[in-house]
Amino acid sequence: MLTHTDSASARPAAATGPDGRPRALVIGAGIGGLSAAMRLGAKGYRVTVLDRLESAGGRGSAIWRDGHRFDLGPTIVTVPQLFRELWADCGRDFDADVDLRALDPFYRITFPDGSHFTASGSTEAMRAEVARLSPGDLAGYDRFLRDSERRYAFGFEDLGRRSMHRFRDLVKVLPTFGLMRADRSVYAHAARRVRDERLRMALSFHPLFIGGDPLHVTSMYILVSYLEKEFGVHYAMGGVAAIAEAMARVIREQGGEIRQSTTVDEILLREGRAAGVRCEDGTVLEADLVVSNADAGHTYSHLLRNAPRRRWSATRVARARWSMGLFVWYFGTRGTRNEWADVGHHTIVSGSRYAGLLRDIFIRRHLAEDMSLYVHRPSVTDPSCAPDGDDTFYVLSPVPNLGGDNPVDWRTEAAPYRARMLRVLEERLLPGLSERLGPEEVFTPETFRDRYLSPFGAGFSIEPRILQSAWFRPHNVLEELPGLYLVGAGTHPGAGLPGVVASAEVLGKLVPAAMPAAPAAPFQAAAE
Ligand SMILES: Cc1cc2nc3c(=O)[nH]c(=O)nc-3n(C[C@H](O)[C@H](O)[C@H](O)COP(=O)(O)OP(=O)(O)OC[C@H]3O[C@@H](n4cnc5c(N)ncnc54)[C@H](O)[C@@H]3O)c2cc1C
Repeated sequence: MLTHTDSASARPAAATGPDGRPRALVIGAGIGGLSAAMRLGAKGYRVTVLDRLESAGGRGSAIWRDGHRFDLGPTIVTVPQLFRELWADCGRDFDADVDLRALDPFYRITFPDGSHFTASGSTEAMRAEVARLSPGDLAGYDRFLRDSERRYAFGFEDLGRRSMHRFRDLVKVLPTFGLMRADRSVYAHAARRVRDERLRMALSFHPLFIGGDPLHVTSMYILVSYLEKEFGVHYAMGGVAAIAEAMARVIREQGGEIRQSTTVDEILLREGRAAGVRCEDGTVLEADLVVSNADAGHTYSHLLRNAPRRRWSATRVARARWSMGLFVWYFGTRGTRNEWADVGHHTIVSGSRYAGLLRDIFIRRHLAEDMSLYVHRPSVTDPSCAPDGDDTFYVLSPVPNLGGDNPVDWRTEAAPYRARMLRVLEERLLPGLSERLGPEEVFTPETFRDRYLSPFGAGFSIEPRILQSAWFRPHNVLEELPGLYLVGAGTHPGAGLPGVVASAEVLGKLVPAAMPAAPAAPFQAAAE
């Protein structure tokens, strides 16, 4: 009998599947949850994924409005070999399932003084860009790249791909953290290498893509500059949702199942082990192993509210530093395919304040009048996301999350904020936009809270500060609750597609095999 069922008459579904394979439940079909499900399937588990949305992918899913596909979240795929290795470990070929296109240039940053910086994969082209903006910073840029490569080798390839749940794992890496001055922020590191404020911004903004404040996030994250340059910036045709759909197909072909529109209310225990879940509709599912891809904060404070929690009590979850919120405006434009010729797939419209705006967002939690924007225009690479001749865009602005005493009330602030965003876009990037607007949708931190059950409406879960990284971050295995594993942005190593795919790789190393390794040939389709 499960210990926390509401009703004594609730009959849990049998743990072991009809084919005799042990059953694993994965809560959440984000890219992290789907990666974990694939790895568990390859290990011989019969996997059921439960997700509250209508389609797979979590933040990486898409919605359609009047022929426009809005990729809701991730747009930049870096370190694609992580996906290729995941597929290979399941006996599959990623490139047969997903059409990934390398972009070059990667993105363009436009500054308020009218200057710009174009990032690309060529070291020579990047050096030329640095020299054009600030010739005196060339030697510093070269050093920055070398710093970045060293941090990639240690922080990503080593630390990011193995479990950090034992304290001794942390102790072993502390000297290297010290040598690499991990206590210094990304911005501080960039500022030591280059003098030009525009270059400091261009070399330090990347943590914003994983929810971190460049003024405070550990300088280990300068590794992103190296991984972009070395492995490129890619786009999945069909958006990241196409990767999620391909993952879902693999899971089904492994004999697994994905149940959408299903919200899990509690993780159930038996004799001190995670033994199943109860869904909001009262359904109880039993399992030999449970993986939560729900936000780590939501998992600890809600799904495990009746379970022993040694490290992450509800109070500690509330006191953690959470990543910023996001205001995202998705829109289509009519008859614009031949307009705005210098606006490529990825553009950053940098506002006049960098450090001041970051402080407003992360420290003062004040909704500023000014903004810095990331503009996504996938229709230049993937015309399938818009009707003929039209464009699809999303524009993202980092804003305060819903924590603190006086959170922004987006029911009243969303419309004026969108109007300010429109003004900035018309002035800086897309003249005449208001006359060309088609269907649109706005996501605020309140949407993130309600749609993804993201604590404080945070865009990227717990902020990746040094004391919230590696061993300090929620672990991928729960020592206090055998049979329960965590995966995704709020766990080690952290947010972003590479982070959450790596978290499933770590989980795969921790979970015991259920039966001899699955054969390399494709699995038979699910019998269910
Ligand atoms: C706007 C935006 C832009 C981004 N851009 C990039 C980018 O360009 N490149 C990049 O690498 N990363 C990017 N990221 C970050 C990246 O998208 C995320 O870190 C990553 O997708 C998170 O994956 P996940 O599996 O941890 O969680 P999620 O995608 O959040 O998935 C978790 C799933 O669990 C579901 N769930 C939660 N609780 C329950 C429950 N109780 N019961 C059932 N289901 C539940 C949620 O609804 C969701 O579907 C971006 C993120 C956003 C929001």
